[in-house]
Amino acid sequence: ARRLVESFLTANPGGGWLDPALTVELFDCYGLPLTISIWTPDEHGTVVAAQSLRQLGHRREVVLKAYWPGQVHKSAAGAVRTGLATDTQVRQTFREFTERFGSRLTGVVVQPMAAPGLELLAGVVQDRVFGPLVLLGLGGTATEVLDDRAARLAPLTERDLATMPAELRGSALLSGHQGAPAVDLAAVQDVLARLSHLATDLPQLAELDLNPLIARPDGVLCVDARARLE
Ligand code: ADP
Ligand code: MG
Repeated sequence: ARRLVESFLTANPGGGWLDPALTVELFDCYGLPLTISIWTPDEHGTVVAAQSLRQLGHRREVVLKAYWPGQVHKSAAGAVRTGLATDTQVRQTFREFTERFGSRLTGVVVQPMAAPGLELLAGVVQDRVFGPLVLLGLGGTATEVLDDRAARLAPLTERDLATMPAELRGSALLSGHQGAPAVDLAAVQDVLARLSHLATDLPQLAELDLNPLIARPDGVLCVDARARLE
């Protein structure tokens, strides 16, 4: 991870957002549960990526995300399409992306469709005075509206891990609300502990978020991650 950070900052002296491929590499270093994300620049690559996900025995449907450097909210810009079940839909969506985003588009990310669950956010931000904070909150596309998060200074203690989920206003959603099953809390806490290590190891990390981290009774999976170095 340190090598990755140093070579990125040598190539980008002012810092910036990691591209999707480097983000996957960084997350792998810390065992963070990121869904398979195949990066491809063209239509043929996109169709082949979707086919190979199906052959690997993933759910039949895939997700396409248009990518360009510096993008912020993908779904608000129309850059996320979920539930694509056929080659034709995949091809069609790639063409829509190229029409809509033109030369800004540098490629697309193809992912298997994740099973539904509770959308959380987990992340790291830097406090100018105290250093890195690890965050947990309610996530997904309604993150800003919900504005429900807990933050602790890294490195996290066992007590931090125990109290963060309980501190959320929406904590009942994690423990099983109106007949919904409880999410795998230990898996959520494991992600927070890994983020704490990452934040402590890499002072050049300016911000990082996993949103959503999809939490289910049988584990957690992140389908959208980004990280910025400084
Ligand atoms: P952004 O946050 O930039 O708008 P995301 O990649 O988070 O884009 O996608 C927006 C929403 O689409 C997510 O909150 C989630 O509900 C859904 N989504 C994205 N990727 C997947 C996936 N692989 N499987 C299932 N749902 C997904
Ligand atoms: Mg997101």
